[in-house]
Amino acid sequence: MDKHSRIYVAGHAGLVGSSIVRNLKAKGYNNIITRTKAELDLRNQALVNRFFAENEIDYVFLAAARVGGILYNQRYQADFIYDNITIAANVIHAAAEYDVKKLLFLGSSCIYPKMAPQPIKEEYLLSGPLEPTNEGYAVAKIAGLKLCEKFYHQYGKCFISCMPTNLYGPGDNFHPEHSHVIPGMMRRFHTAKLNGDEKVVVWGSGKPRREFLHVDDLAEALFVLMEKYDRPETINVGTGIDHSILEVAEMLKDCVGFKGRIELDTSKPDGTPRKVLDVSRIKELGWEPKYSLEEGLRHAYQWAVENRVFDTKIIELGEERQSEKADMHERPGAV
Ligand code: GDP
Repeated sequence: MDKHSRIYVAGHAGLVGSSIVRNLKAKGYNNIITRTKAELDLRNQALVNRFFAENEIDYVFLAAARVGGILYNQRYQADFIYDNITIAANVIHAAAEYDVKKLLFLGSSCIYPKMAPQPIKEEYLLSGPLEPTNEGYAVAKIAGLKLCEKFYHQYGKCFISCMPTNLYGPGDNFHPEHSHVIPGMMRRFHTAKLNGDEKVVVWGSGKPRREFLHVDDLAEALFVLMEKYDRPETINVGTGIDHSILEVAEMLKDCVGFKGRIELDTSKPDGTPRKVLDVSRIKELGWEPKYSLEEGLRHAYQWAVENRVFDTKIIELGEERQSEKADMHERPGAV
C-alpha cells in the first residue's frame, strides 16, 4: 500500500474497523474509503457491485460483520449466519470482479472447534464440532475464510485471512446483554460502583479461560499482514496468554474501583472451556502486542468514561430486533 492507495475499510464504525482507520490515518494514508450502514447494505450484492465498480478500490480490510456476545449469538443464529455469509460473499466476490489488489478478511478464534487442543494452531480449523452457542456465526466466518483461500488458488487473487482472538477496546459494544464479556462486565462494575451496590453478577462458572487482545494491537497486526503476508493459509492474531473469567472480573473490579463482591450466575452459559491461540506464525512476521491486559483494560475504561458510553440508553434485545425487522431493506449488512 502506498499513502495514496484507495483503501476500503468495511465496517469502519465497529470496534475493529474504527481502530484500522485510526491506525492508517496515523501512518499518513490519505485515501481511506468508508460507507455507513445507511449508505451501503453489504448484504445486497447489486449495491456492493456498484460500489466497487464506482470506486476503483486497491485494498480491502473486510472487518464488517454482525458480532455479539455469547447470549446474543446463541439467540439469533439465523441472523448471524445469513448476515455474515452474505457480507463475506458479496464483498469478496466484488473484490475479485473489480480487481482489488489485496483483501484481508477477519475470521475469529471462536470458529475453531469447541474442543480444539490448546493453544490453538491454525491447522485445527474444521478438525472437530463447533461450539453450539456460536455455530451460526462460525459457519459463516468459515465460509468467508474458505472463499478467500479458494479465490487465491483458483484465480490467483491475493485474498488473505486472519483469526483474531477475543478483542476489546475503544469503540466496543457496551450493551449489558449483547456485548462480549469485557465491556459487559465493565458496565456492570461501573454501574454498581455508582449505585453503591454490594455485589456484581458475573455470568457462568467463572472458570472458562479466554485470551484478550486490545483492538489497537490488532489493527497494527492487520497492517503488518497487509504489508508482509501473501499466503492463503489463515494466521492467528493474539497474545498467546489466557486468563479465567473470574481473574478478568477481579482485574475489572480493581480497574473500575468497585468495592463490593463478585457473585457467579451459573444459569448463564460458559461456552468453550478454553480458547487461547498459538501465535508463533504472526510473531515470526515481527509483530507483538503492546498492551498488557491490565493496561489495556485501564485504557478501554478511560475511553468508555470519557465517551460517556455508560450514559446512553440501553436498547433491549426485543426492541432492537423489532426495529431491525421494520427497516430490513434499508439496513446495512455491516452490523
Ligand atoms: P465467547 O468467548 O464466545 O464465549 O464470548 P463472551 O465474551 O460473550 O463470553 C466469554 C465468557 O465470559 C463466557 O463464559 C461467559 O459466560 C462469561 N461472562 C461472564 N460475564 C459475562 C458478561 O457480562 N457478558 C458476556 N458476554 N459474557 C460473560
